[in-house]
Amino acid sequence: MERIGPILILEGPNHSKVPYSRSLFLDGSEKVLIDSGAEAKTLLDLKQEKGMELIINTHYHPDHTTHNHLFPDVTKWINPIEFETSRTVEGVARANAIYQEWGADGVEKWEKTLPLELIENLSGISGTYDYETEYRFGEVKVIFLHTPGHTSGFSCPYFPDLGIAFVGDYDMTTFGPWYNGTDGNIDDFITSGERLLTLDADTFITGHQKGVFKKQEFKAAMEKFLTIIDKRDEMIDQYVRNGLTFEELTEIGIFYPKRTLENPLLKTWERSGIRKHLVRLGYIVSESSRELVKLK
Ligand SMILES: [Zn+2]
Repeated sequence: MERIGPILILEGPNHSKVPYSRSLFLDGSEKVLIDSGAEAKTLLDLKQEKGMELIINTHYHPDHTTHNHLFPDVTKWINPIEFETSRTVEGVARANAIYQEWGADGVEKWEKTLPLELIENLSGISGTYDYETEYRFGEVKVIFLHTPGHTSGFSCPYFPDLGIAFVGDYDMTTFGPWYNGTDGNIDDFITSGERLLTLDADTFITGHQKGVFKKQEFKAAMEKFLTIIDKRDEMIDQYVRNGLTFEELTEIGIFYPKRTLENPLLKTWERSGIRKHLVRLGYIVSESSRELVKLK
Protein backbone atom coordinates (compact mmCIF):
# COMPACT_ATOMS: atom_id res chain seq x y z
CA MET A 1 0.00 0.00 0.00
CA GLU A 2 1.22 3.44 -0.88
CA ARG A 3 1.60 6.19 1.69
CA ILE A 4 1.57 9.94 1.12
CA GLY A 5 2.24 11.62 4.46
CA PRO A 6 -0.50 10.52 6.85
CA ILE A 7 -2.64 9.06 4.06
CA LEU A 8 -2.58 5.41 3.08
CA ILE A 9 -3.91 4.47 -0.35
CA LEU A 10 -5.63 1.09 -0.18
CA GLU A 11 -6.23 -0.93 -3.32
CA GLY A 12 -9.33 -2.91 -4.06
CA PRO A 13 -9.14 -6.31 -5.79
CA ASN A 14 -8.36 -6.27 -9.53
CA HIS A 15 -6.83 -2.74 -9.56
CA SER A 16 -9.84 -1.38 -7.72
CA LYS A 17 -12.07 -2.13 -10.67
CA VAL A 18 -15.86 -2.06 -10.17
CA PRO A 19 -17.43 -3.66 -8.02
CA TYR A 20 -14.48 -2.55 -5.84
CA SER A 21 -12.76 0.78 -5.44
CA ARG A 22 -9.73 2.41 -3.88
CA SER A 23 -9.99 3.57 -0.25
CA LEU A 24 -8.03 6.12 1.73
CA PHE A 25 -7.02 5.56 5.32
CA LEU A 26 -6.27 8.69 7.31
CA ASP A 27 -3.52 7.54 9.61
CA GLY A 28 -3.23 10.50 11.97
CA SER A 29 -4.06 10.37 15.65
CA GLU A 30 -7.66 9.73 14.56
CA LYS A 31 -8.15 6.85 12.17
CA VAL A 32 -10.65 7.40 9.40
CA LEU A 33 -11.47 5.27 6.38
CA ILE A 34 -12.79 6.99 3.25
CA ASP A 35 -14.83 4.60 1.09
CA SER A 36 -14.76 0.88 1.80
CA GLY A 37 -14.21 -0.67 -1.63
CA ALA A 38 -10.63 -1.78 -0.88
CA GLU A 39 -9.61 -5.39 -0.22
CA ALA A 40 -11.52 -6.74 2.81
CA LYS A 41 -8.43 -8.26 4.43
CA THR A 42 -6.46 -5.01 4.16
CA LEU A 43 -9.27 -3.13 5.86
CA LEU A 44 -9.77 -5.69 8.61
CA ASP A 45 -6.03 -5.89 9.31
CA LEU A 46 -5.74 -2.10 9.47
CA LYS A 47 -8.57 -1.84 11.95
CA GLN A 48 -7.01 -4.56 14.04
CA GLU A 49 -3.58 -2.94 13.97
CA LYS A 50 -4.40 0.76 14.15
CA GLY A 51 -8.08 1.09 14.98
CA MET A 52 -10.82 2.79 12.96
CA GLU A 53 -13.03 5.50 14.41
CA LEU A 54 -15.07 6.50 11.42
CA ILE A 55 -15.96 5.43 7.88
CA ILE A 56 -16.86 8.17 5.42
CA ASN A 57 -18.51 7.34 2.09
CA THR A 58 -18.08 9.78 -0.80
CA HIS A 59 -21.39 8.55 -2.23
CA TYR A 60 -23.78 5.65 -1.87
CA HIS A 61 -22.76 3.48 -4.87
CA PRO A 62 -22.15 -0.16 -3.90
CA ASP A 63 -18.55 -0.15 -5.17
CA HIS A 64 -17.64 2.61 -2.69
CA THR A 65 -19.59 1.23 0.27
CA THR A 66 -18.60 -2.41 -0.47
CA HIS A 67 -17.21 -3.34 2.92
CA ASN A 68 -19.15 -1.08 5.26
CA HIS A 69 -20.89 -4.20 6.58
CA LEU A 70 -17.62 -5.63 7.89
CA PHE A 71 -17.50 -2.86 10.49
CA PRO A 72 -20.84 -2.84 12.29
CA ASP A 73 -19.37 -1.07 15.32
CA VAL A 74 -17.75 1.81 13.40
CA THR A 75 -19.72 5.05 12.87
CA LYS A 76 -20.47 5.76 9.21
CA TRP A 77 -21.17 9.02 7.44
CA ILE A 78 -22.29 9.85 3.94
CA ASN A 79 -22.99 13.12 2.13
CA PRO A 80 -26.15 14.98 3.19
CA ILE A 81 -27.88 14.73 -0.20
CA GLU A 82 -27.76 10.94 -0.33
CA PHE A 83 -28.36 10.14 3.32
CA GLU A 84 -32.11 9.63 2.96
CA THR A 85 -32.20 7.98 -0.49
CA SER A 86 -29.41 5.59 0.32
CA ARG A 87 -31.18 4.23 3.36
CA THR A 88 -33.98 2.55 1.46
CA VAL A 89 -33.97 0.01 -1.34
CA GLU A 90 -36.73 2.04 -2.99
CA GLY A 91 -34.55 5.16 -2.93
CA VAL A 92 -31.60 3.34 -4.49
CA ALA A 93 -33.86 1.85 -7.17
CA ARG A 94 -35.15 5.29 -8.09
CA ALA A 95 -31.70 6.87 -8.15
CA ASN A 96 -30.41 4.07 -10.38
CA ALA A 97 -33.07 4.54 -13.05
CA ILE A 98 -34.59 1.14 -12.37
CA TYR A 99 -37.97 2.65 -11.67
CA GLN A 100 -37.70 5.01 -14.64
CA GLU A 101 -36.87 2.27 -17.15
CA TRP A 102 -38.91 -0.69 -15.90
CA GLY A 103 -41.49 0.59 -13.43
CA ALA A 104 -42.58 -1.04 -10.18
CA ASP A 105 -42.32 -4.59 -11.59
CA GLY A 106 -38.72 -4.00 -12.53
CA VAL A 107 -37.93 -2.69 -9.07
CA GLU A 108 -39.49 -5.76 -7.51
CA LYS A 109 -37.43 -8.08 -9.73
CA TRP A 110 -34.26 -6.14 -9.02
CA GLU A 111 -34.82 -6.23 -5.26
CA LYS A 112 -34.77 -10.02 -5.37
CA THR A 113 -31.27 -9.99 -6.86
CA LEU A 114 -29.79 -7.71 -4.21
CA PRO A 115 -27.12 -9.19 -1.98
CA LEU A 116 -27.86 -8.78 1.71
CA GLU A 117 -24.58 -6.92 2.28
CA LEU A 118 -25.62 -4.17 -0.10
CA ILE A 119 -28.54 -3.33 2.11
CA GLU A 120 -26.42 -3.61 5.26
CA ASN A 121 -23.78 -1.34 3.74
CA LEU A 122 -26.27 1.46 3.39
CA SER A 123 -28.56 0.92 6.36
CA GLY A 124 -25.58 1.07 8.72
CA ILE A 125 -24.86 4.69 7.80
CA SER A 126 -25.94 6.89 10.68
CA GLY A 127 -24.73 10.39 9.93
CA THR A 128 -23.67 12.97 7.36
CA TYR A 129 -20.81 15.37 6.80
CA ASP A 130 -21.17 18.92 5.52
CA TYR A 131 -19.84 19.93 2.13
CA GLU A 132 -17.19 22.60 1.73
CA THR A 133 -16.32 22.57 5.44
CA GLU A 134 -12.91 21.88 6.89
CA TYR A 135 -12.72 18.80 9.11
CA ARG A 136 -9.74 17.85 11.19
CA PHE A 137 -9.09 14.19 11.93
CA GLY A 138 -6.07 14.30 14.18
CA GLU A 139 -3.64 16.45 12.19
CA VAL A 140 -5.27 15.69 8.83
CA LYS A 141 -7.42 18.46 7.38
CA VAL A 142 -10.01 17.51 4.78
CA ILE A 143 -12.79 19.31 2.92
CA PHE A 144 -15.55 17.34 1.19
CA LEU A 145 -16.07 19.20 -2.06
CA HIS A 146 -19.54 18.92 -3.49
CA THR A 147 -18.88 17.70 -7.01
CA PRO A 148 -22.25 16.60 -8.41
CA GLY A 149 -22.71 14.92 -11.77
CA HIS A 150 -21.67 11.31 -11.21
CA THR A 151 -24.43 11.31 -8.61
CA SER A 152 -26.15 14.39 -7.21
CA GLY A 153 -24.42 14.06 -3.85
CA PHE A 154 -20.99 12.86 -4.99
CA SER A 155 -18.11 14.42 -3.07
CA CYS A 156 -14.36 14.61 -3.55
CA PRO A 157 -12.29 14.72 -0.35
CA TYR A 158 -9.65 17.44 -0.71
CA PHE A 159 -6.65 17.73 1.59
CA PRO A 160 -5.52 21.35 1.25
CA ASP A 161 -2.38 21.05 3.38
CA LEU A 162 -1.19 18.00 1.49
CA GLY A 163 -2.25 19.12 -1.99
CA ILE A 164 -4.17 15.88 -2.51
CA ALA A 165 -7.63 15.30 -3.96
CA PHE A 166 -9.45 11.97 -3.93
CA VAL A 167 -11.41 12.19 -7.16
CA GLY A 168 -13.28 8.87 -7.01
CA ASP A 169 -15.28 8.26 -10.15
CA TYR A 170 -13.34 10.81 -12.17
CA ASP A 171 -11.39 7.65 -12.81
CA MET A 172 -10.10 8.58 -16.28
CA THR A 173 -10.83 5.12 -17.65
CA THR A 174 -11.48 4.61 -21.36
CA PHE A 175 -15.08 3.75 -20.46
CA GLY A 176 -15.57 7.44 -19.81
CA PRO A 177 -17.75 9.48 -17.48
CA TRP A 178 -20.62 7.72 -15.72
CA TYR A 179 -23.73 9.75 -14.96
CA ASN A 180 -26.31 7.14 -15.87
CA GLY A 181 -28.42 7.09 -12.73
CA THR A 182 -31.46 9.35 -12.54
CA ASP A 183 -29.39 11.26 -9.97
CA GLY A 184 -26.58 11.79 -12.49
CA ASN A 185 -26.24 14.91 -14.63
CA ILE A 186 -23.99 15.46 -17.65
CA ASP A 187 -23.60 19.23 -17.34
CA ASP A 188 -22.86 18.98 -13.62
CA PHE A 189 -20.33 16.26 -14.37
CA ILE A 190 -18.45 18.60 -16.69
CA THR A 191 -18.64 21.58 -14.30
CA SER A 192 -17.41 19.52 -11.35
CA GLY A 193 -14.61 18.02 -13.44
CA GLU A 194 -13.48 21.49 -14.43
CA ARG A 195 -13.62 22.58 -10.81
CA LEU A 196 -11.22 19.79 -9.82
CA LEU A 197 -8.67 21.26 -12.23
CA THR A 198 -8.73 24.55 -10.31
CA LEU A 199 -7.70 22.96 -7.00
CA ASP A 200 -4.42 23.81 -5.43
CA ALA A 201 -3.29 20.20 -5.52
CA ASP A 202 -0.59 18.19 -7.21
CA THR A 203 -1.78 14.69 -6.42
CA PHE A 204 -5.08 13.32 -7.71
CA ILE A 205 -6.11 9.84 -6.63
CA THR A 206 -8.81 8.10 -8.63
CA GLY A 207 -11.22 5.58 -7.16
CA HIS A 208 -10.70 2.92 -9.82
CA GLN A 209 -7.90 1.41 -11.89
CA LYS A 210 -5.41 4.11 -12.99
CA GLY A 211 -4.56 5.51 -9.57
CA VAL A 212 -2.37 8.51 -8.85
CA PHE A 213 -1.97 11.45 -11.24
CA LYS A 214 0.22 14.54 -10.99
CA LYS A 215 -1.50 17.81 -11.84
CA GLN A 216 -0.47 18.11 -15.49
CA GLU A 217 -1.27 14.47 -16.19
CA PHE A 218 -4.59 14.86 -14.48
CA LYS A 219 -5.43 17.91 -16.55
CA ALA A 220 -4.65 16.14 -19.81
CA ALA A 221 -6.53 13.03 -18.69
CA MET A 222 -9.57 15.11 -17.70
CA GLU A 223 -9.75 16.76 -21.11
CA LYS A 224 -9.68 13.40 -22.81
CA PHE A 225 -12.17 11.97 -20.34
CA LEU A 226 -14.72 14.76 -20.80
CA THR A 227 -14.33 14.58 -24.59
CA ILE A 228 -15.95 11.15 -24.42
CA ILE A 229 -19.19 12.98 -23.58
CA ASP A 230 -19.03 14.87 -26.90
CA LYS A 231 -18.26 11.66 -28.74
CA ARG A 232 -21.35 10.03 -27.25
CA ASP A 233 -23.39 13.06 -28.28
CA GLU A 234 -22.12 12.85 -31.85
CA MET A 235 -22.66 9.13 -32.10
CA ILE A 236 -26.20 9.25 -30.79
CA ASP A 237 -27.11 12.24 -32.92
CA GLN A 238 -25.85 10.46 -36.02
CA TYR A 239 -27.87 7.33 -35.26
CA VAL A 240 -31.03 9.37 -34.73
CA ARG A 241 -30.48 11.19 -38.03
CA ASN A 242 -30.19 7.79 -39.64
CA GLY A 243 -33.67 7.02 -38.36
CA LEU A 244 -33.07 4.74 -35.40
CA THR A 245 -35.72 4.54 -32.71
CA PHE A 246 -34.99 4.81 -29.00
CA GLU A 247 -35.26 1.04 -28.56
CA GLU A 248 -32.85 0.46 -31.43
CA LEU A 249 -30.40 2.95 -29.96
CA THR A 250 -30.38 1.03 -26.70
CA GLU A 251 -29.25 -2.16 -28.45
CA ILE A 252 -26.06 -0.82 -30.05
CA GLY A 253 -23.80 -0.57 -27.04
CA ILE A 254 -23.00 3.12 -26.78
CA PHE A 255 -21.90 3.04 -23.15
CA TYR A 256 -21.48 -0.66 -22.47
CA PRO A 257 -20.17 -3.31 -24.87
CA LYS A 258 -23.10 -4.79 -26.78
CA ARG A 259 -22.52 -8.31 -25.44
CA THR A 260 -22.89 -7.09 -21.84
CA LEU A 261 -26.31 -5.55 -22.42
CA GLU A 262 -27.94 -8.84 -21.48
CA ASN A 263 -27.17 -7.86 -17.91
CA PRO A 264 -30.39 -6.12 -16.82
CA LEU A 265 -28.63 -3.51 -14.71
CA LEU A 266 -26.22 -2.53 -17.49
CA LYS A 267 -29.13 -2.41 -19.92
CA THR A 268 -30.93 -0.09 -17.50
CA TRP A 269 -27.96 2.29 -17.39
CA GLU A 270 -27.46 2.07 -21.15
CA ARG A 271 -31.05 3.24 -21.60
CA SER A 272 -30.94 5.98 -19.01
CA GLY A 273 -27.59 7.23 -20.31
CA ILE A 274 -28.90 7.46 -23.87
CA ARG A 275 -31.98 9.28 -22.61
CA LYS A 276 -29.78 11.93 -21.02
CA HIS A 277 -27.90 12.53 -24.26
CA LEU A 278 -31.13 12.69 -26.24
CA VAL A 279 -32.41 15.40 -23.91
CA ARG A 280 -29.11 17.25 -24.25
CA LEU A 281 -29.35 17.01 -28.03
CA GLY A 282 -32.89 18.37 -27.96
CA TYR A 283 -34.83 15.21 -28.76
CA ILE A 284 -37.83 13.90 -26.93
CA VAL A 285 -38.58 10.24 -26.63
CA SER A 286 -42.24 9.70 -27.36
CA GLU A 287 -44.34 7.55 -25.02
CA SER A 288 -44.35 4.61 -27.37
CA SER A 289 -40.55 4.87 -27.67
CA ARG A 290 -40.97 4.46 -31.40
CA GLU A 291 -40.18 7.94 -32.50
CA LEU A 292 -37.58 10.49 -31.64
CA VAL A 293 -38.60 14.07 -32.18
CA LYS A 294 -36.15 16.94 -32.45
CA LEU A 295 -37.29 19.94 -30.43
CA LYS A 296 -34.81 22.54 -31.57
ZN1 LIG B 1 -20.00 5.84 -8.16
